[in-house]
Amino acid sequence: MHETSIAAGIIAIVEDTVKREDIVRVLEVEVEVGLLSLVDLESLRFALEVMSKNTVLEGARITFKTVEPLLRCSRCGAEWGLSRGEIEGLDDASKIALHMYPEAVARLFRCPRCGSSETEIVSGRDVRVSKLRVEEKGS
Ligand SMILES: [Zn+2]
Repeated sequence: MHETSIAAGIIAIVEDTVKREDIVRVLEVEVEVGLLSLVDLESLRFALEVMSKNTVLEGARITFKTVEPLLRCSRCGAEWGLSRGEIEGLDDASKIALHMYPEAVARLFRCPRCGSSETEIVSGRDVRVSKLRVEEKGS
Protein backbone atom coordinates (compact mmCIF):
# COMPACT_ATOMS: atom_id res chain seq x y z
CA MET A 1 0.00 0.00 0.00
CA HIS A 2 1.11 3.49 -0.96
CA GLU A 3 0.71 5.05 2.50
CA THR A 4 2.65 2.28 4.23
CA SER A 5 5.77 2.84 2.15
CA ILE A 6 5.50 6.60 2.63
CA ALA A 7 5.21 6.11 6.39
CA ALA A 8 8.29 3.87 6.35
CA GLY A 9 10.19 6.58 4.48
CA ILE A 10 9.19 9.25 6.97
CA ILE A 11 10.21 7.12 9.94
CA ALA A 12 13.57 6.33 8.32
CA ILE A 13 14.30 10.03 7.76
CA VAL A 14 13.40 10.94 11.33
CA GLU A 15 15.48 8.09 12.76
CA ASP A 16 18.41 9.25 10.66
CA THR A 17 18.14 12.80 11.98
CA VAL A 18 17.88 11.55 15.54
CA LYS A 19 21.02 9.47 15.12
CA ARG A 20 23.03 12.42 13.82
CA GLU A 21 21.99 14.81 16.58
CA ASP A 22 21.66 14.61 20.33
CA ILE A 23 17.98 13.92 20.41
CA VAL A 24 16.29 12.04 23.20
CA ARG A 25 12.76 12.02 21.97
CA VAL A 26 10.68 13.29 19.10
CA LEU A 27 7.74 15.31 20.33
CA GLU A 28 6.16 16.33 17.10
CA VAL A 29 6.61 15.72 13.44
CA GLU A 30 5.07 17.84 10.74
CA VAL A 31 4.63 16.20 7.37
CA GLU A 32 4.09 18.26 4.27
CA VAL A 33 1.81 16.53 1.81
CA GLY A 34 1.51 17.76 -1.75
CA LEU A 35 -2.07 17.30 -2.92
CA LEU A 36 -0.89 15.65 -6.15
CA SER A 37 0.59 12.81 -4.12
CA LEU A 38 -3.04 11.76 -3.54
CA VAL A 39 -2.08 10.42 -0.15
CA ASP A 40 -4.96 9.60 2.12
CA LEU A 41 -4.12 11.47 5.31
CA GLU A 42 -6.06 9.20 7.63
CA SER A 43 -4.38 6.09 6.19
CA LEU A 44 -0.99 7.77 6.48
CA ARG A 45 -1.66 8.78 10.07
CA PHE A 46 -2.72 5.24 10.90
CA ALA A 47 0.34 3.73 9.20
CA LEU A 48 2.63 6.14 11.05
CA GLU A 49 1.06 5.36 14.39
CA VAL A 50 1.30 1.61 13.91
CA MET A 51 4.80 1.60 12.42
CA SER A 52 6.32 4.06 14.89
CA LYS A 53 5.93 1.60 17.77
CA ASN A 54 9.34 1.03 19.37
CA THR A 55 10.95 3.80 17.34
CA VAL A 56 11.94 7.35 18.34
CA LEU A 57 8.66 8.44 16.86
CA GLU A 58 6.48 6.47 19.21
CA GLY A 59 3.97 8.77 20.86
CA ALA A 60 4.98 11.82 18.84
CA ARG A 61 2.29 14.17 17.67
CA ILE A 62 1.79 13.92 13.93
CA THR A 63 0.55 16.93 12.03
CA PHE A 64 -0.06 17.33 8.33
CA LYS A 65 0.34 20.40 6.20
CA THR A 66 -1.21 20.07 2.78
CA VAL A 67 0.36 21.95 -0.10
CA GLU A 68 -1.53 23.00 -3.21
CA PRO A 69 0.33 22.02 -6.36
CA LEU A 70 1.88 24.53 -8.68
CA LEU A 71 1.84 23.96 -12.44
CA ARG A 72 3.75 25.74 -15.18
CA CYS A 73 2.97 26.10 -18.84
CA SER A 74 5.89 24.99 -21.00
CA ARG A 75 4.70 27.19 -23.85
CA CYS A 76 4.08 30.60 -22.27
CA GLY A 77 5.63 30.17 -18.83
CA ALA A 78 2.50 30.95 -16.83
CA GLU A 79 2.35 29.41 -13.35
CA TRP A 80 -0.83 28.65 -11.49
CA GLY A 81 -2.03 26.66 -8.51
CA LEU A 82 -4.43 23.76 -8.44
CA SER A 83 -7.07 23.66 -5.78
CA ARG A 84 -8.09 20.59 -3.83
CA GLY A 85 -11.44 20.69 -5.62
CA GLU A 86 -9.85 20.52 -9.05
CA ILE A 87 -7.83 17.46 -8.06
CA GLU A 88 -10.71 15.71 -6.35
CA GLY A 89 -12.86 16.47 -9.38
CA LEU A 90 -10.75 14.16 -11.56
CA ASP A 91 -12.33 10.85 -12.49
CA ASP A 92 -10.98 7.66 -10.91
CA ALA A 93 -8.97 6.58 -13.94
CA SER A 94 -7.16 9.92 -14.00
CA LYS A 95 -6.47 9.69 -10.28
CA ILE A 96 -4.90 6.27 -10.70
CA ALA A 97 -2.86 7.54 -13.65
CA LEU A 98 -1.74 10.47 -11.53
CA HIS A 99 -0.11 8.07 -9.11
CA MET A 100 1.98 6.55 -11.85
CA TYR A 101 2.39 9.22 -14.51
CA PRO A 102 2.01 12.63 -12.88
CA GLU A 103 3.60 14.41 -15.86
CA ALA A 104 1.06 12.92 -18.23
CA VAL A 105 -1.83 13.87 -16.02
CA ALA A 106 -0.59 17.43 -15.64
CA ARG A 107 -1.67 17.79 -19.25
CA LEU A 108 -5.30 17.42 -18.19
CA PHE A 109 -5.00 20.89 -16.72
CA ARG A 110 -4.76 23.42 -19.50
CA CYS A 111 -2.92 26.67 -19.17
CA PRO A 112 -5.33 29.38 -18.06
CA ARG A 113 -3.42 31.97 -20.08
CA CYS A 114 -2.81 30.37 -23.49
CA GLY A 115 -4.84 27.16 -23.34
CA SER A 116 -1.85 24.91 -23.98
CA SER A 117 -1.85 21.41 -22.52
CA GLU A 118 1.94 21.40 -22.35
CA THR A 119 2.00 21.76 -18.62
CA GLU A 120 4.49 20.53 -16.07
CA ILE A 121 4.35 20.06 -12.34
CA VAL A 122 6.52 22.50 -10.40
CA SER A 123 5.61 21.28 -6.94
CA GLY A 124 2.93 19.53 -4.98
CA ARG A 125 3.54 15.86 -5.45
CA ASP A 126 6.02 15.22 -2.69
CA VAL A 127 5.52 14.02 0.84
CA ARG A 128 8.26 15.17 3.18
CA VAL A 129 9.08 15.90 6.77
CA SER A 130 8.85 19.67 7.08
CA LYS A 131 9.31 20.19 10.80
CA LEU A 132 10.57 18.22 13.75
CA ARG A 133 10.07 19.23 17.36
CA VAL A 134 12.38 17.29 19.63
CA GLU A 135 13.69 17.00 23.14
CA GLU A 136 17.46 17.29 23.20
CA LYS A 137 19.89 15.80 25.66
CA GLY A 138 20.35 18.05 28.68
CA SER A 139 17.52 20.40 27.83
ZN1 LIG B 1 0.43 28.96 -21.40
